[in-house]
This record gives sequence, C-alpha cells and structure tokens, in this order.
Amino acid sequence: MAIKFELIKESSECNARLGKLYTPHGVIETPIFMPVGTKATVKTMTPEEVEKLGAQIILANTYHLYLKPGHKLIEEAGGLHKFMNWNKPILTDSGGFQVFSLGKLRKITEEGVEFRSHIDGSKHMLTPEKSIEIQNSLGSDIMMAFDECAPYPSTWEYIKQSMERTSRWAKRCKEYHKDWDRQGIFGIVQGGMYKDLREESVKAITDLDFPGYAIGGLSVGEPLDLMCEILDFTTPMLPKDKPRYLMGVGTPDYLFESVIRGVDMADCVLPTRIARNGTTLTSHGKLVIRNAKYAKDFGPLDPECDCYTCRNYSRAYIRHLFNVNEILGSRLATIHNLYFLIKLMKNIREAIKEDRLLEYREEFYKKFGYIN
Ligand SMILES: [Zn+2]
Repeated sequence: MAIKFELIKESSECNARLGKLYTPHGVIETPIFMPVGTKATVKTMTPEEVEKLGAQIILANTYHLYLKPGHKLIEEAGGLHKFMNWNKPILTDSGGFQVFSLGKLRKITEEGVEFRSHIDGSKHMLTPEKSIEIQNSLGSDIMMAFDECAPYPSTWEYIKQSMERTSRWAKRCKEYHKDWDRQGIFGIVQGGMYKDLREESVKAITDLDFPGYAIGGLSVGEPLDLMCEILDFTTPMLPKDKPRYLMGVGTPDYLFESVIRGVDMADCVLPTRIARNGTTLTSHGKLVIRNAKYAKDFGPLDPECDCYTCRNYSRAYIRHLFNVNEILGSRLATIHNLYFLIKLMKNIREAIKEDRLLEYREEFYKKFGYIN
C-alpha cells in the first residue's frame, strides 16, 4: 500500500494538525515522536518493549546499516523488519546526515558524496541512486531523499548551490525508485535560514510530488527562535494533504513549538542518549539521577508517570544501578524517557482535538520549568 496521509483536523488556534499516516506496515497517528534505532535497535530495548511503550514507528540509519552489517545482508535476512523483529512502520534516513557528521574526508560533487568510513577508513561513495538502493534493500516503509545537510551557519551563496543540488538529487531519487506500493520517499526542503531559498526549495521539491516532506537544515545548532521563524515561514507553503517531518527534534519545547507550527513527525536520539547517562525527563523538568540527593529517595522518577519504570522502581534504586554501572539502570531510564515523549505527543494530540493546545503548552512549560 502506497504511503497516504489523511488530514483529520486543523487546530483553530494555531497551525497544529491531527492526521493519520497510512504505511505498508500500519497506520500512524500524527503528530508523532519517533524513537531512533540507529543500528537496527533502539538501544537497550527489545522491539516488543518499544511497541509496548506505544511507539508507532521507529527510525533507522542508512549510513550505519550500510557499513555494518551491510544492506545486502539485511536484504538476505528478509529486510529490516524481519531482521530486527519489528513489524510496525520503519523510516530510514538517506545516510546524508551521517556522511556529513561522521564520515571523514568528504568530497561533494554533482554525482554524490565520497567519504571514508568512521569505522575503518574505507572509501565509499553515496549518491542519490545508491542511497535509494540501500534503502530498497532495507525495505523501510518511508525512505528519505538523499540531500546535503549544510552546516550552520553557512553563507547565502553556499546554501543556494547546496539547496539547488539537493533538488536535483531529489529528482534522481524519485526516478531511481520503482516500487511505490512497498516504499515511499519523502522529499527534503532545504534553504538554511534564508527565506528566499526556503521558498525556492519548497517549490522545487513539491513540484516532484513526493508522498511526504521533511524540513531539513533545522535543529542544527540555531537558536529556537530562529527555528520557529523558519518553520512559521516554511510549513504554510507545504501542501496540506502531505505529512511534514522535522528531523532531529526531541526536547519537549522543540516538539511543542514545531507541532504548533504544523509539523506532524519528529525524531531524535536525545531521550535515549541522555537516558544512558542517567538524565531523565519528568513533568517537573530534567532529573539527573546520579545526584546525591536521590540516594534515599524511594519515590518514582516522575510521580505523574505510569510507565513500567515509575510503577516499579525508585529513584534510589535507579541511582544505585547507575553508580555501580549496571545496565538495568540504562534500560529503566530509556523506558521512562521514551514513554514520557510518546505520552507527551499523545497528550498533544488530545489537546489539538479539543482546541486547547496553547493552554496545554503553558501548563506543561510552567511545570517543566521552561517558564515561571
Ligand atoms: Zn516513568
């Protein structure tokens, strides 16, 4: 079944929307936060546990899976769903972001990007066609077009040529891909922090008519205000009947602010990464479990949370696990952090349904400590 988006409701108070995204492996309710399973695993968790938390879709990284264990091996295993035993939707990125952030000695040409593996220094070439070929082998429901994620800040001249090349690469991705019932591709809008270039990019990418669009080149180190300004400008230009995906967003404030501006999907390694360092997100703000003040705190991480961790374990116990380097500490913190963001998005969907998202945001921000 080809990727299809159904717009259920538009908020009367902001640009937020409710939708349903149909994929070959099931329906996703939007807005949604997607946990990241970089190397075909959401770190420390079994897929059954991830599903139990309420995750509707996960993300996996093309660059990592291409280098190890290799896309052909995963294809031989029957595709990524089968290989990792996850039967719900999967989104794969194009590999572009990692080539730019991890790959060494990159050389960008019209053909693609030549780079050296961060693991063993071996030489590789990623092109739009190669990225789709790899993602075809992985068999993800949603693939991403191969783009250049330009650094922030960059000059207008640099962003312009990079954005134009990204549009030509998007066209090549679309031409290379064949089976649109099995897998869809999302096009990526670039243009950095320059509105005229954003406008050009939206025009070029939406002309190619993809089943969904990502807003790229944001959440790359710019201040939240600037991201909001670019989103305010960009999302209204995107077609209403297609999903919008903002890459790399995973703190409560960034999630609220992007949903309010019309974003339907977001992902980030943050909740799982900070969990493994013992930092948890709670209704009352960030909680660093290693702090001495929790040594004899026998209450849950978050008294308002009903996740497996909070129902069964105390702050004192989880702190102890981290102090003696027991892996159960990372697992319990990961369960809580993922559940916290999945539940937050569920609450956000409820609030959109009832036209009280702005009120809910204020309530959440006060309690979390973002505002007084
Ligand atoms: Zn919890």
